[in-house]
Amino acid sequence: MLLISCPYCGARAETEFSYGGEAGIERPKDPHALSDAEWADYLFMRKNPRGLHTELWIHAQGCRRWFKVERDTVSYKITSSRELSLGASEKE
Ligand SMILES: [Zn+2]
Repeated sequence: MLLISCPYCGARAETEFSYGGEAGIERPKDPHALSDAEWADYLFMRKNPRGLHTELWIHAQGCRRWFKVERDTVSYKITSSRELSLGASEKE
């Protein structure tokens, strides 16, 4: 069982959380200026790396808050979890 550390509640079982996809994807400032290919790239194309990946998770069965998790996609080891509002500072 994978333990995920919610920055608000502490470590809980993976079953209490839902995955929200890749973190850090910014909506284009002027979507109407994009070509269809650029818009499709924004909507559908994700990194899917082998190794460290920054992801969004929600503590759906707990505080229902979103937060960022940095997880190794090979080992599933979570190296950090932090509130969305936090920039450089991180909590584990
Ligand atoms: Zn929580």
